[in-house]
Amino acid sequence: MTPADDAFGSSAPGEHRVDDFELPGTPDGFDRLWNPHRLAYVSRGQHQVKDRDSCPFCAAPQRDDADSLIIARGTTCFVVMNVYPYNPGHLLVCPYRHVPDYTDLTVEETTEFARLTQIGMTALRSSGRPAGFNLGMNQGTAGGAGIAAHLHQHIVPRWNGDGNFLPIIAQTKNITASLDQLHATLHAVWDEAAAEFDRKQTDRDSAPAPGRGD
Ligand SMILES: [Zn+2]
Repeated sequence: MTPADDAFGSSAPGEHRVDDFELPGTPDGFDRLWNPHRLAYVSRGQHQVKDRDSCPFCAAPQRDDADSLIIARGTTCFVVMNVYPYNPGHLLVCPYRHVPDYTDLTVEETTEFARLTQIGMTALRSSGRPAGFNLGMNQGTAGGAGIAAHLHQHIVPRWNGDGNFLPIIAQTKNITASLDQLHATLHAVWDEAAAEFDRKQTDRDSAPAPGRGD
């Protein structure tokens, strides 16, 4: 083995070998499921949203809540159903401004972005009793953002056993309720969820908080 063979630190002396096709490589115990068709999402998907005119997150607030599947509208941010849900109740929190990056948010937007995420979790807990959540933002095309040009935070409710082989081998998610049904449910419980969240936050804020000690 030459030093160049180990440029990515993947092989140890004596382990470099060829596979049944006599192609160079270092077997590591993983099977590979090749998905070259997904390159279309990587290489072309981002070009579909270049500016506000082609951005679904800029268009949504221009329509009414039922038509756009918006759950709640704040002063600077809003909450909308993901039309490509990973799980039932998959929500997105977006600023109204067409900005791509978390660091682009103002202080007011950052505060409301977080608050709507917390109320979204509260609303989902009151209506669907998920066992957990995945929260997060994919930043940039390389970070996996489907629409990188307009910041959005995912709120994905999780239930025990909701992950199975279908998404992996059949590119199919088993979604058990329609978007319209879930939109109506979450829209109806949102105000009470916000009130519940505010009550709990008031209780927390009135409790003595540990300081830095300096
Ligand atoms: Zn936008």
